[in-house]
This record gives sequence, structure tokens and C-alpha cells, in this order.
Amino acid sequence: MSAAARTSPQLDAIVVGAGLAGLYMLHRLRGLGLRARVFEAGSGIGGTWFWNRYPGARVDIESLEYSYQFSGELQQAWKWSERYATQPELLRYIDHVADRFELRRDIALNTRVESALFDEAVGRWTIATSGGQRVSARFCVMATGCLSSTNTPKFEGIDSFGGAKYHTGDWPPAGVDFTGKRVGMIGTGSSAIQSIPIIAQQAAQLFVFQRTPNYSIPAHNGPIDPELERRVKADYASFRVSNGQRPFGADFRDNAGSALAVSPEERQREYEDRWARGGLAFLGAYGDLVFDPAANDTAGEFIRAKVRATVKDPAVAELLSPRTVVGCKRLCVDTNYYATFNRPNVTLVDVSQAPIEAITPGGLRANGREYTLDCIVFATGFDAMTGALTRIDIRGRGGRLLREKWAAGPRTYLGVATAGFPNLFMITGPGSPSVLSNMLPSIEQHVNWIATAIGHVSAHGAASIDATPEAEDAWVAHVNEVADSSLFPRCNSWYLGANVPGKPRVFMPYLGFPQYVQKCNEVVAKGYEGFAIG
Ligand code: FAD
Ligand code: NAP
Repeated sequence: MSAAARTSPQLDAIVVGAGLAGLYMLHRLRGLGLRARVFEAGSGIGGTWFWNRYPGARVDIESLEYSYQFSGELQQAWKWSERYATQPELLRYIDHVADRFELRRDIALNTRVESALFDEAVGRWTIATSGGQRVSARFCVMATGCLSSTNTPKFEGIDSFGGAKYHTGDWPPAGVDFTGKRVGMIGTGSSAIQSIPIIAQQAAQLFVFQRTPNYSIPAHNGPIDPELERRVKADYASFRVSNGQRPFGADFRDNAGSALAVSPEERQREYEDRWARGGLAFLGAYGDLVFDPAANDTAGEFIRAKVRATVKDPAVAELLSPRTVVGCKRLCVDTNYYATFNRPNVTLVDVSQAPIEAITPGGLRANGREYTLDCIVFATGFDAMTGALTRIDIRGRGGRLLREKWAAGPRTYLGVATAGFPNLFMITGPGSPSVLSNMLPSIEQHVNWIATAIGHVSAHGAASIDATPEAEDAWVAHVNEVADSSLFPRCNSWYLGANVPGKPRVFMPYLGFPQYVQKCNEVVAKGYEGFAIG
């Protein structure tokens, strides 16, 4: 512990959020000898894996990769039971990490941070919490999550509904028994696609209200392959290094070649092989799938043929067949999703032509018809990437409000900092690969970078570190330029904020994990290029 930390009764750092990011940040700050405290709105730790307890919730990155790598002992000791870990297993893992590294004593639960104000005179951040507490520290790290701020559309009559309402991102910890119920599910994104097959097994009737169909690849989940686990654990470090050099920071068995450079038969074989193995690695089949529309359409047509082959009613199959770019909305991974629409108790309701009209005391009205429902599941996603940050009153130099600075879209340097908000860091913020990567390695890379920066500022006796407006402008332009070279901006995804009415249409994540890491390392090597340290 540094001398400064020992003598100061005050905190050195505040961390907002106790998900995977906030927990590791706390561990690293302690390692620097700093006094840090984590503030978490929820009644437990775990973030995403605390809130999203809907039936079927699990990772779609393989468990051996969706896990911390900062501790060799931890990654050897922990045994995943399934290829794709379930939400309860992930929460057990997170609890284990918190206990193993004795993190809990510095975490305040049930404490929402409502504002964060930078006092220029003393160079400190002061937060105000939902309980009326005010706490200050030199550094403030927002580990508030990219997918933590739920989005519930303002449907007419929503408060009049007499039944139960659930959001997948804020699921009751005790669970929900849908046995014998008439259930309405709004949305067909990843959360819906995971939960629909399970809810359909319980419910008397399930009505799925679909605005846009999604591409989904079978998970082929099962017990973890012991031979694979043995191989990975024999040299976990090399496995991590090689995955870190892949476009999405995960082992998608990436093939750099073009989908159009091979014969249709070879392409079909490749897609069949990836479909049979399951998971997001489908997207790694060819290097141009997310860049060339013609290449992408070969993958789209392959998946549509699978939907037609699975779903017995051709009209339903047609409705479930996306026409969008594959991967442009987050690709989904499922267990029996399309086949679930063959069940007699499941009805797909197309709301693409006319929006849901209203929620009524007895159900939901769409396309001029009233659907009688006992409960409604809102699988309507999140105010992604910026929502958790803009819901806090964050004021930087001159009292400037972050929400106002970002009114036309988020502006950051490297997704870790935003000019005019000194000593404030974001983990996996907009402008970083975050949601376009395996998020756990991205989180660790950000936490490591932030810890190094804080260590650097402290070691040099500097008061603050702030991104320069010039570096930020150049980075924002670069993020947009890379996005525009891809097919990602071509559909109405939450990557673009398109799911939240009125949100500016800006592509928020940075495409290219290895290039990004290299850039971050170069910035440090060049003495924190693009940052003013003073
Ligand atoms: P979070 O886990 O979101 O934690 C943020 C925490 O901050 C929350 O607990 C929240 O309550 C708290 N918080 C926010 N605002 C405040 C405030 N003002 N005051 C106090 N506390 C606050 N990523 C993958 O890479 N692979 C996957 O398979 C995958 N699956 C996912 C499945 C679901 C259902 C969802 C929603 C996301 C998934 N993700 C996945 C993304 C996932 O969010 C990240 O992988 C990761 O868990 C994020 O961790 P985090 O700590 O950054 O944020
Ligand atoms: P989402 O992908 O944003 O899906 C929300 C769904 O709600 C979409 O189908 C959307 O339709 C629909 N919707 C929103 N507003 C609507 C309205 N007014 N009327 C009708 N439909 C409406 O949210 P999500 O499913 O919660 O997933 C969010 C992200 O979390 C994922 O993309 C992924 O990154 C992560 N996640 C991962 C997993 C996993 O498999 N590990 C599981 C869940 C979540 P439109 O498409 O037309 O907007």
C-alpha cells in the first residue's frame, strides 16, 4: 500500500457497478495500494448475471473463454460444467471470485449512484447515492455495463395491464412459473430466443410479437468436453493470447478468405460444418461476411433454408426468415428456437407492418386484434452502451453534463475516457470493441489499461488525466470510418441506438479487437498520447 493511501482517510477511487468489470477493477485498484469502494444498485453482485435470470439465460461465448484470465490459479481451479454456462453457474463463478479475492468488504449494495460531480478546485469526484450518501475520490471508474439499462417501450396503456409484467433484464430472483398461463412475449432478440423455447414448454399459450426476425445458430450445448478442457488448461495462457489476436477476441475458427472465392458446394460444406458444431463461430466462416453484401447473403440464404427446413408452416417460416445482413444485429445462439414455432401452443404475431397498438387491462392489441394474456414478457432489450451512463448526472469541467455532451451521440477517446471529464474512466465504453468482442477479455484489457494509467498519474504526482478534444475527435472519426467500411450500420440494431426511439443513430462500438488493443498499447508507449496529464 502506498504512503498516500495509508495516510489518507479518503477514498482514492470510486467504482460504479459490481459486475465482472467493477469486481476486477476493485481488485486491480487494491493491487495499486489504493483505497477504493464499489457502489452497486442491485442487491447482489454479478451485473448482467445478477439481473438476467430469465429461463434459458446463458452465455453464447464458450465458458472456457468467457472467464477471467487475470489469475492463473483461478482459471485452473474453476470447472465449468457446460460448453455454454448458465446464468446460475455464472453467478456462482462470480461469487467464487468475490470470495477468493475478498472483494465484498469494499462493495456497497443497494446503492444507486445518481450523480457524479468533478470539483475542479480540489480535483476530486463526488458522487451522490440513492440513499443520500455523498462520497468523494480522486478517480471515478464507471463499470456500469453496456447492457444494464433496460428498455421498456412506452406502449399505450402499459400501466393498465391487469396481469404480471416482466423484463428479461430485471427478472424476479425467485423465478416465474408460467404453467397454464397465456403469455405474451414482445421481442425476438437474444433474450427472447433463449427464453421462448423454455417458456413455451410451460405456458398454456405463448404469443410472440415479432417486429424483426433474427438469425440464430444452434448452440449444441452440452456438458463441457473433458478433452477440450484438459487441452485448454494445459496451456491456458497461449489459448488466451491466440484468441486475443482474433477479430472478435474469441475463437471463431476465423477464416480470412472470401465466401465468394470458393465454389457453392465448398461454401455449403463449410456452413453445414459450422452449423453442426454450433455457436457464434458460424460468423468466422469467411473474412468478408461482415464487409461484403454478396458474401453475407450466402450466409443469410443458408440460414433461411435451415429455417424453412425446420418450421413446418411455410408462412411462419417466411415470417421467421430475416432479410437483414447476418451479424448486423447481434447474431443469436439458441436451443430449439425455430422448432418451437411448430408447437400448437405457440403463435407468431407479425408486428412489422403496424406497431403494437396498445396494452390493455386484459392483454395486448395488435393488428386490430385483442390477445388475452395473463402475463407479458418484455424482451425488449436495453438502452445499450450509453444508457447507464446518461442516466447518471455526470458533470465534468465547468459543470458540463455528460448527457448534454453526448446529445448527438457518444464521444470518447478509446472508449475509456471523454474529454472534459478528468480522472473519469469507462470500462467497455462506446468507442471500444466491448460488445463486438468476447466481453470478458475486453473488460480485463480495459481494467488493466485504466489501472496502469491511474498508477502512472499517481507515480508522477500529477493531479489529473484528461483526453484532449483533438484526440477524441480523431478517434470518433476513426470509429465511424471503420464502421462504415463494414455492413454493421446497415440495419436497425442497438449497436446504432436504433431500438430506442429518439436516440441518435451513431454506431457505438469499435470494430476490431486486436487493432484496438495495439492502439491502446501504443498510446501508453508514446507517453499517453492524446491525454493531457497535469
Ligand atoms: P454489467 O454486468 O452490466 O454490470 C454493471 C453493473 O452496474 C450492474 O450490476 C448495474 O446494476 C450497475 N449499475 C449501473 N448503473 C449504476 C448506478 N448508477 N449506480 C450503481 N450501480 C449501477 N457478453 C459476452 O461477451 N458473451 C455473452 O455470452 C454475453 N451474454 C450476455 C447475455 C445477456 C442476457 C446480457 C444482457 C449480456 C450478455 N453479454 C455477453 C454482455 C455482458 O453484459 C458482459 O459480458 C458483461 O457481463 C458486462 O459486465 P460489466 O461488469 O461491464 O457490466
Ligand atoms: P435486443 O437484441 O435489443 O432485442 C429486443 C427485441 O425487442 C427486438 O426483437 C426488438 O425488435 C424488440 N422490440 C423493441 N422495441 C419494440 C417495440 N416497440 N415493439 C416491438 N418489438 C420491439 O435485446 P436482447 O434480446 O435483450 O439482447 C440484447 C443483447 O444482450 C444481445 O444482442 C446480446 O449482446 C446480449 N445477450 C446475449 C445473450 C446470449 O445469448 N448470451 C442473451 C441475451 C442477451 P427490433 O429488432 O425490431 O428492434
